[in-house]
Amino acid sequence: MILIKQFLTPYILAFAVVMLVFSCKEVKTQGVSEIAIEESFNDSLGVQLVVLGNIQDAGSPQIGCAKDCCKNLLENPDPIRNVVALGLADRKYQKTYLIEATPDIGQQLGAFNAIAFYPPDRLPDGVFLTHAHIGHYTGLMYFGKEALNANRLLVYAMPKMRSFLTQNGPWGQLVLNENIQLADLKADQAMELTPALKVTPFRVPHRDEYSETVGYHIEGPNKKALFIPDIDKWERWDKSIIKAISEVDYAFIDATFYDGEELDARDISEIPHPFVVESMTLFDELPTSEKDKIYFIHFNHTNPLINTESEQYKAVIRNGYHVASFRQILEL
Ligand SMILES: [Zn+2]
Ligand SMILES: [Zn+2]
Ligand SMILES: [Zn+2]
Repeated sequence: MILIKQFLTPYILAFAVVMLVFSCKEVKTQGVSEIAIEESFNDSLGVQLVVLGNIQDAGSPQIGCAKDCCKNLLENPDPIRNVVALGLADRKYQKTYLIEATPDIGQQLGAFNAIAFYPPDRLPDGVFLTHAHIGHYTGLMYFGKEALNANRLLVYAMPKMRSFLTQNGPWGQLVLNENIQLADLKADQAMELTPALKVTPFRVPHRDEYSETVGYHIEGPNKKALFIPDIDKWERWDKSIIKAISEVDYAFIDATFYDGEELDARDISEIPHPFVVESMTLFDELPTSEKDKIYFIHFNHTNPLINTESEQYKAVIRNGYHVASFRQILEL
């Protein structure tokens, strides 16, 4: 036994050294790229958009899912799988905004402040909501008494969304205790947040039980972005998505499902999101420069685009599109 141990020890040691070298290399590579991103962020005096989440409302892993898409994630959670949200930072005017208040808001705000070199306890100057479905507004609960106990944090919302929050618990309590202060939004009316940053909501068709649903047009000093995390099939919208993309530099669009295969037991007509394969067919004839603007976002736990090794992910990239990912930074 001792002999075997003596014989094996040098090999074990050599293996350990090799592993150490590889793991150091990995850490170093990650560190360099992260520093490069953060330095560019820090040096800029412009407006930046940061992707803070790309997953559909219910997260990944999703409750009650025993399929391959989620099963390993219960034991090994993937910290970058946050529910869909964007951060906006105007470096010159020192203002930050969140678009969406997701159940992951704590982690997202922490990541955003770290990326932007702000202190970890800095709160956004405002939060914009798209609609009253669980992934898009329930993070507001963390502004209340049991958590942050915020003081009049500005929450921008459309009229029905505002009434929903005011008239229903526990959200009404946030308004009553002045943890949040609701600010009015009107469809197609720009909200000038700083001299360099404008945000404009626009209505989109979606399951509107409690609120309207909006997308946002975001305009920085040099570039514009479109954000539509939830929408019914493109043909149900009274605007052309192709025209909307032509008017911006970046378009973050609903990619809840890659195709119908993910919906085995559920009635497709009840879930009318545009499938990624349908969007790619619609955009197929567009020039490369237009496809290059498109960032798919809002992935259901079953969506193979979450996995960067999947054939579907590779096909989307090969076709000239982007898949939105946590910590992606775009200059506006
Ligand atoms: Zn959603
Ligand atoms: Zn799953
Ligand atoms: Zn929704």
